[in-house]
Amino acid sequence: MHCPFCGANDTKVIDSRLVAEGDQVRRRRECLASGCGERFTTFETAELVLPRLIKSDGSRQPFDEDKLRAGMQRALEKRPVSVERLEAALAHIKHKLRATGEREVKSLVVGELVMGELQKLDEVAYIRFASVYRRFQDLNEFREEIDRLAREPSKQ
Ligand SMILES: [Zn+2]
Repeated sequence: MHCPFCGANDTKVIDSRLVAEGDQVRRRRECLASGCGERFTTFETAELVLPRLIKSDGSRQPFDEDKLRAGMQRALEKRPVSVERLEAALAHIKHKLRATGEREVKSLVVGELVMGELQKLDEVAYIRFASVYRRFQDLNEFREEIDRLAREPSKQ
């Protein structure tokens, strides 16, 4: 790695430790160029590719984090759940998907993971999501909400 101070090629790792619950490696490096000797820090994160999703019709789609976040936000609309907790839930879902080690997973696996996370975050959001996702017919108290969701243009 080039020294960011003098551009020299030769830098040495002087310390290396795991951070962010083991998802990142923090390295202290020292420039070996004479007259520089600056120290700097780098962070390395594994770029683990998320599996592609197999839809019920057999088609494949790349994992789309924004779409997943939007779906969860819709379920959490006007519910007392912070952005931080939503982001943590998304991180859990991605972690579990990477941990499968599979290159492709059924999209319903993701749906089940989302429901598991929403259940921990907020019961109402969980039922909203489950109602749409599982197409339950008998949850009258959420009919209005479901109808409203159904009127929204599909983001598929
Ligand atoms: Zn240097």
